[in-house]
Amino acid sequence: MEHRQDTIFALASGGGRGAIAVVRLSGPGCGDVLRRVAGGLPQARQASLRRLRAPGSGEVLDQALVLWFPAPASYTGEDCAELHLHGGPAVIAAVSEALAVLGARPAEPGEFTRRAFLNNRMDLTAAEGIADLIAAETEAQRRQALRQADGALARLLEGWAARLMRLLAHQEAAIEFADDDLPSDLGDRARAGAAALKAEIATHLADGGQGERLREGVVVAILGAPNAGKSSLLNTLAGREAAIVSARAGTTRDVVEVRLVLAGVPVTLADTAGLRDAGDEIEQEGIRRARRRAGEADLVLAVFAANEAPDAATLEWAARGAVVVANKVDLALAPAGIAGVAPLAVSALTGEGLQALRERLEAEARRLAGAGDAAMLTRPRHRAALTEAAAWLAEAEAAPLPELVSEALRAALRALGRVTGRVGVEDVLDIVFGEFCIGK
Ligand code: GDP
Ligand code: ZN
Repeated sequence: MEHRQDTIFALASGGGRGAIAVVRLSGPGCGDVLRRVAGGLPQARQASLRRLRAPGSGEVLDQALVLWFPAPASYTGEDCAELHLHGGPAVIAAVSEALAVLGARPAEPGEFTRRAFLNNRMDLTAAEGIADLIAAETEAQRRQALRQADGALARLLEGWAARLMRLLAHQEAAIEFADDDLPSDLGDRARAGAAALKAEIATHLADGGQGERLREGVVVAILGAPNAGKSSLLNTLAGREAAIVSARAGTTRDVVEVRLVLAGVPVTLADTAGLRDAGDEIEQEGIRRARRRAGEADLVLAVFAANEAPDAATLEWAARGAVVVANKVDLALAPAGIAGVAPLAVSALTGEGLQALRERLEAEARRLAGAGDAAMLTRPRHRAALTEAAAWLAEAEAAPLPELVSEALRAALRALGRVTGRVGVEDVLDIVFGEFCIGK
């Protein structure tokens, strides 16, 4: 196979010092390397305790567990091996040197998974899922990454591609054998199928970007007039003093951010300078940044002091779907109401209502980012390719000539194939001649 090139190795366990360090190898030279360094090939896929020796001198470098995964049933599809060494940096360095002397080279980032893709062990979305799994910090992120690594997104896309291929086959047959006695509605069936598939892709595109949000985290901006208690709320939600609280208006001059996990979703809470006019230069810069941050935020928490009437900015954010919080209820008999929204009444001072606020934020996080348990689009490139596929399907539906329908279906199939990295438009011929059994 053309992708079988040289033999690569890398430290597969983390960079920090652990009791055990795992060095992984892949490539056609693996067997040779094991014979020379570990005194022979262990049983396939079984851990075996070996002395590792330096190639020239024969000096013992370490006692290690050695695993041998012959091709093709390995992670990369090539011959692979793992050396479970003692975790000291000198051990890792000595063994790495021995591997290099024997002709293996240090792997580049992602190279093992790249080889796995090139050898058809996984599609591109599964490879992305593995990258996400390694980066996952929260429970919902882990679930989403594992699902994608396990092929959930690939299966969804391959199901669509298979349907599209069949439509294309019908369409091609309708063109190729227009004069023969084939069912004459083949072309109509292709158009109807294109419309149905387009609608299905559209529902996935209309998911509100949950998959990307869960990968990247949700941003919540806390906005409100100076002294409403934004910094106090941020500190209580974060469980620590992250922002300066002061009785003097306009103290939070820059954006203070804290990271927390709500419902398994990583959330960045951004405390912003009070949205009021005037103030000195620095404060105005803070206000500009607050406005920008609020514009980029996935959710706005609009805070006002319950013992005062809500200010104009709060009313505006309320109308735009913000979560409205009436703070300092300990100072008010009843918080002022806002037409159409029920403010969450809380007190950062006494803790009243904070549990309800936290639960509301968890519900919002789930709504914005999902729980990680469906096949989601997790990257802009998925979305871009599906948008393109849907556009081509619309074109197929409306095309005035059978040849143009065919063209558009092919283009849609190519767009889908880009997501998984498998573009097999040629396969359509097999279907045409297999499914219809025309001629010989
Ligand atoms: P910010 O300017 O919106 O960030 O407001 P701060 O968090 O700095 O708070 C302004 C002042 O209000 C401080 O003196 C806080 O101690 C006080 N404060 C904040 N929350 C409450 C509350 O729920 N009740 C009362 N009584 N005072 C509060
Ligand atoms: Zn503040």
